[in-house]
Amino acid sequence: MADELVGGRYRLVVRLGAGGMSEVWAADDVELGRRVALKLLARDADPARFEREAHAVAALAHPNICRLYDYGEADGRPFMVLEYLGGGTLEDRLVPGEPYPREETERIARELAAGLAHAHERGLIHRDLKPANVLFDDEGVAKIADFGIARLVGSGTLTETGTLLGTATYISPEQAQGQPATAASDVYSFGVILYRLLAGRLPFESDSPIELARMHIQERPFPLADARPAAPPVLVALAEASLAKDPDTRPPDGEALARALSEGEQAPALSEAPTIVGGLEPTRVIPRPGLTGRDRWPVPLPFVVAALLLLVAAAAGVAIAVLVGRSNGSTPPPSSAARRTRISGTRTTAPSTTAPTARTSTAASTKRTTTAPKTVVPPPTPPPTPPPPPPTPPPPPTTLPTTVTIPLTTTPPPPPPPP
Ligand code: AMP
Repeated sequence: MADELVGGRYRLVVRLGAGGMSEVWAADDVELGRRVALKLLARDADPARFEREAHAVAALAHPNICRLYDYGEADGRPFMVLEYLGGGTLEDRLVPGEPYPREETERIARELAAGLAHAHERGLIHRDLKPANVLFDDEGVAKIADFGIARLVGSGTLTETGTLLGTATYISPEQAQGQPATAASDVYSFGVILYRLLAGRLPFESDSPIELARMHIQERPFPLADARPAAPPVLVALAEASLAKDPDTRPPDGEALARALSEGEQAPALSEAPTIVGGLEPTRVIPRPGLTGRDRWPVPLPFVVAALLLLVAAAAGVAIAVLVGRSNGSTPPPSSAARRTRISGTRTTAPSTTAPTARTSTAASTKRTTTAPKTVVPPPTPPPTPPPPPPTPPPPPTTLPTTVTIPLTTTPPPPPPPP
């Protein structure tokens, strides 16, 4: 096949890669005498998605989007002729565990934002933005490629309804729940990429796509400002705003991302990393525009207040017990709250007194369920009697509120217990 002229014009040179849908070749356009990338539909693949990609990219012309030059059919196989990008993908350039160089990160962020702004202005959503779809030309300019599952705003749902489209690592919470993607969904994927570049790690990591999807829906990423204190605050703020769970609180589209980046550029004091003094980075408050109260707290605020009140009540009980114990010359038992509660990361772990997790039958019909636990304040410890002291009965467990649970599971709900 390598010596054939595809479409009477393109000489295939070397195969760059192949997936289930298509194979990509470096080719020479013999008419214009230039190198191109030729994407050929796999023999048994459905041409609908391929055609959709061609139509989507044909509507775009921007320095940060891979250009479509030509479209045709050879031997019954549709093909696309694309701008050849010889600099490899962003995925190839990422080194596990290492943040990306700062200036490169800023430039790539600006270029991706500009490319997204162009697509979004034309009503096109990429829906699968990830480092493997960001390619570089020979000058190192980043370009968004592979609009294979792009769709026009307002167009009907795809035939793949029910399938989890996109890549779980970069998928937005709404896509993970089977809801339609919007421009803000691309903004979320941009946020995951930016987080990865700044922190040297992903906001959520798991080998299981379902678990990853659940994390995108429920979990808070480790704060970037802690993961990499020297990161430029403007980029940190933009990544965190882009990763908001609620699409309405994210920057709405590529244009908003581009604007935030250029405003950050004009305010150098904001975009500069903290100065390192005597080996210690000064503490600074990182502005986090666009975040709502719901985003800042892993659990709803009323629950947090209730938990604090409970802790105060428990502490008061212990204090009374200490005073009473002292007046009787004995040592009170440790606080049950201190013994029984464990708070790790963004999740509050409660003992088994909590209500069971709700289950749903499909990802598309994911339910949002808030479980309010029973909370019991431990009674003050009874004053011990002179020797031998009777064993103090363990107080009932004190629970902190559990997190809001948004299950994403295909397991059907358990049948209700017989009356
Ligand atoms: P894909 O099937 O889109 O994942 O692409 C397969 C391989 O072809 C990957 O290694 C891509 O980096 C490469 N590739 C895709 N598009 C282009 C392009 N326009 N220019 C150069 N290489 C490309």
